[in-house]
This record gives sequence, structure tokens and C-alpha cells, in this order.
Amino acid sequence: HVKARGKDGYRFYSDSMSINTANRLSLERDLRLALERNELRVFYQPQVCSRSNRVVGLEALVRWQHPERGLLYPRDFLPLAEETRLVGKLSEQVIDQACRDVGRWISTGHPDLRLAVNLSPSQVEHPRFVETLMNHVSAHQFPPANLEIEITENVIMNDLEQISQKLKELAATGVRIAIDDFGTGYSSLNYLHRLPIHTLKVDQSFVKAIRGGDDGACIVNAIVAMAHGLKLEIVAEGVETDDQLTYLKSLGCHQVQGFFYGPARPAADITSLLAGDALSLAHTG
Ligand code: C2E
Ligand code: MG
Ligand code: MG
Ligand code: MG
Repeated sequence: HVKARGKDGYRFYSDSMSINTANRLSLERDLRLALERNELRVFYQPQVCSRSNRVVGLEALVRWQHPERGLLYPRDFLPLAEETRLVGKLSEQVIDQACRDVGRWISTGHPDLRLAVNLSPSQVEHPRFVETLMNHVSAHQFPPANLEIEITENVIMNDLEQISQKLKELAATGVRIAIDDFGTGYSSLNYLHRLPIHTLKVDQSFVKAIRGGDDGACIVNAIVAMAHGLKLEIVAEGVETDDQLTYLKSLGCHQVQGFFYGPARPAADITSLLAGDALSLAHTG
């Protein structure tokens, strides 16, 4: 037997238990502590208008500065947070931090800057989801019209009636709604004109396939054409190359996000990025 000392006593792992199980237990304990010790960090990835090269939005992406394991990414801890019901608390910390940071940028020369926040399925399914979210938003005096929540198609299809009610309530406050990873879920297109959706985010798998006449390019064409027809905004995710950018521009998809313009960065980097942005705008008049 392998014996590990947890904070709350001894835990015994049999040799047949996978490393993953041991790993998981310690990660779960660490995640509870992380929420108390404020080890979560919010990074921001710019959403850029390729016509003006201006930052139009920032997507908040959570990171965990783990004391021993270093900087962890959502794939390392979000599934666990979902299973252990810690995700609600985690999301509230992300929203608080993001409203503080982006609220500061909004009030210092970037009044139209949009904050995009990812919401987990269990968060949206919570009966008091809208009330809870808006409590956090107003506690920071964050302007609702500058907030865009990102949800996936599957969250919508799970319980169309309930979600429809909530999204209408939310949209009435001025908050915008984006469908993340659009095209990858199990959904019907029927909801697009029945729900108050403002933005479609083209999944990065389709953007990656914009290359040498790949079928993925056709899917991007179709999604962009549909978004234009329905008068929805469109943001392409995962844009990494000049070729992808040129192609997206030729389709009239001008809002892009991806490593081409830069990865998610800590707040301090965004402060200087926005300062530079303001400077270059002053030069172009
Ligand atoms: P997402 O919302 O679709 O976010 C896009 C992901 O793609 C991010 O990964 C981002 O860092 C990455 N990415 C951006 N540009 C590029 C690119 O050009 N190439 C490639 N290969 N990747 C790119 P990240 O930060 O690891 O987040 C993964 C997922 O975790 C997110 O997918 C989102 O679903 C979820 N997530 C992140 N933060 C939060 C949060 O605060 N709350 C909740 N509920 N979910 C979150
Ligand atoms: Mg997202
Ligand atoms: Mg996405
Ligand atoms: Mg995703």
C-alpha cells in the first residue's frame, strides 16, 4: 500500500488504484484550498477587429497558479470542478475578478470594451443563475451591455424551455449571449432565431481546416453566411495564421481571436496592450 498524508488525516491507496485516482483526490483537496487562498488567476485573450486592428473584446480564461504544480489550464481542473460542484464558486471568483479588471479598463478610455465570460453547464442550470450573475455584475457596477456570456449549444439543447426563459431574462438586462464552439455540439438551428443570441463563435477546429480547400473551409463559409443572414455577430476562434485571417476577411468575418493576435495574458499585460492600442489610434486619428 501507498500511504499519503492528507490535510484531514491519512488516505490509503491500494496499488491497484490508478495514479489518476490519487492525483484526483489530492487535486480536489487542493482546489478547495485554492478557492480559499485565491490561487485562481484570470487571463484575458484579445478579440480583435481585423479591419481596425483594435481590441474590441477580452475573453476571460481561468488559470490556476498551483503552489507546487505551477500554472494549470482549465482542462487540468475544470472537469473536476464540475464533478465536485466547486465550479459555482470558481466561476463567481472569475466573474468578480474579470468585472474588476475590465471595469477598470472600460472606465479609463475603453468604454466599448466587451468582456466575454464562459459559463459552465451546471451554472446555467442553477435555478437562480440570472439573479446570482447579475448580483456579481452590479456589485462591481459593471455595465451589463459590456458583458457577453459564452455558452455552448449543448447547454441550450439540454433544456430548451428553461434556458429560453433565463436567456430572455438575461438579455433584458442588456447582457449579450454568445454561442461558443459553434458547430461542434448536438443542436438544432431552430433555436437561433427563437432565443436572444447575439454572437456565434466559430469553433477553432473549423478555422484550423481553412487550408488547401479542406472541407472545413466550406463549414466556415456556411456559418459566416448564416450569421450574416440572421444578423448575428461572428467571432472566429483559434486564428493562428495570416492565411486564415485573409480568408476570414474575404468572407466578411472581421472579429477574430487566436494566437495570431496573441494568447490569453495576465491583466498587467492587457493594461499595457490597451495603452499601446490607444496610442496607435491617436496616430491614425
Ligand atoms: P473556449 O471558451 O472555447 O476558449 C478557447 C480556448 O482556446 C482557450 O483555451 C484558449 O486559450 C485557446 N486558444 C485561443 N486561441 C487559440 C489558438 O490560436 N490556437 C489554439 N490551439 N488555442 C487557442 P483554455 O484557456 O485552455 O480554455 C479551454 C476551455 O475551458 C474554454 O474553451 C472554456 O470552455 C473553458 N473555460 C476557460 N475559462 C473558463 C471559466 O472561467 N469558466 C468556465 N466555466 N469555463 C472556462
Ligand atoms: Mg469561450
Ligand atoms: Mg470556443
Ligand atoms: Mg470550449
